[in-house]
Amino acid sequence: MPSTKENIQKKTESFLYIPPHVDFVLDRLTDAGHEAFAVGGCVRDFLRGVVPHDYDVTTSARPEQIHAVFADCRLIDTGIAHGTVTVLVDGEPIEVTTYRIDGDYRDSRHPESVSFTDDIEKDLARRDFTMNAIAYSPLRAFCDPFGGREDIAAGVIRAVGDPYARFREDALRILRALRFSAVLDFGIEEETSHAALALCPLLLHISPERVRVELTKLLSGVAAPRVLLAYVEIFKTLLPAWGQAASKWDLTALAAVLSDLPSDPILRLAAFLLPLSDTDQGRKAAHALLTDLRFDNRTRDRVVKLLSHLSDPYEGEGAVLRRFLAGLGREDALLMLALHRGMAEAASAPPPALSSIEKAREGVLKILESGACLTMAELALRGDDLIREGYAPGRRLGEILRALFDAVLDGACPNDAAALLAYAKNHFPPQSK
Ligand code: ATP
Ligand code: MG
Repeated sequence: MPSTKENIQKKTESFLYIPPHVDFVLDRLTDAGHEAFAVGGCVRDFLRGVVPHDYDVTTSARPEQIHAVFADCRLIDTGIAHGTVTVLVDGEPIEVTTYRIDGDYRDSRHPESVSFTDDIEKDLARRDFTMNAIAYSPLRAFCDPFGGREDIAAGVIRAVGDPYARFREDALRILRALRFSAVLDFGIEEETSHAALALCPLLLHISPERVRVELTKLLSGVAAPRVLLAYVEIFKTLLPAWGQAASKWDLTALAAVLSDLPSDPILRLAAFLLPLSDTDQGRKAAHALLTDLRFDNRTRDRVVKLLSHLSDPYEGEGAVLRRFLAGLGREDALLMLALHRGMAEAASAPPPALSSIEKAREGVLKILESGACLTMAELALRGDDLIREGYAPGRRLGEILRALFDAVLDGACPNDAAALLAYAKNHFPPQSK
């Protein structure tokens, strides 16, 4: 019998907080005679001292048995063929997946088949990294056959089993390793790292959507700059257009820009794509790259806009800043200034450069607060108003409205219907028919 002290120690070491809705799921499954564990990201995050954002449960129960156990709950068949059922408890979704073994991965993408197993260790063996291959249940404590807890404590990402074999099975794991490394600021174990570099051409077979998800998370990670520099060959292979442009760039400087930026995904993507910002052709390539990765149009357009407006002037007073805002739009003007600050800091720009960015930021915020007119649609005078005053519809009318907008941006005329009408009559009198 271990002493009480040892007992207590063992207990604290083997304790993991399971929230009530997850406890409910584990209890129900165990009471029905099945095995059930919390597994994957939630166990990893808990052990890192981070509150898990969601919980996955792995169980010996087959999908139809899961259905029977939770007959009175709302269920969603997330991937019945793969044995995944989502149980909604108090509105919280919990993915419950039957222990399984993946079949052959013929195309580095999808297992050809999956089969169920009764052995938790076999289920853990199919998982990507040791830190993600730990299961926990209040009854059985940890099941950690690959030393995941030790790797988490050491901050190491290590493939479960032979990394070459695992990356050949599913090349997305290469990008997941980089993503976890960037987000958790963990190192990648040497052999796992070698395998990732050696096998990265397999990433070209991965679906663009999956690449997009991982790349976005990766770039937003605290350690994205380090990962970018250490694995630049992988980025070049995965995104050849970026690679070509990036080989003419100082990548240390590029990484420094990333490290000086907040982790907003639009900003991080724009910074990553800076090598493609210099020429029209480059910006087209950036647009194509984001389209190919199936980014939504809005994200793509905002990133390309940042790349295209990099040389918009922002040093000056009201008129310059209103034009800056009108060119970029309210939302992106501040992102652009953040990007400039990141670039200035990365280039160790002298303090005056940084303070002029700060001054622009303050000026922009003031203009935003004032509710100034920043788009044609916000002009206090419309085409109809001019027509009522004797102007003829047509192209000239459009040009006049554009000129009025310019006058408002320049501060030459207030955005006020009467003032705008007077300005129009003065500068562009209606033409007699
Ligand atoms: P996140 O915090 O991003 O959700 P996660 O570890 O939960 O991290 P998921 O993509 O939600 O990641 O996957 C859940 C679990 O499934 C992982 O912890 C891992 O055990 C396993 N897994 C996910 N993708 C793979 C893969 N490509 N190959 C092997 N195992 C995987
Ligand atoms: Mg998860």
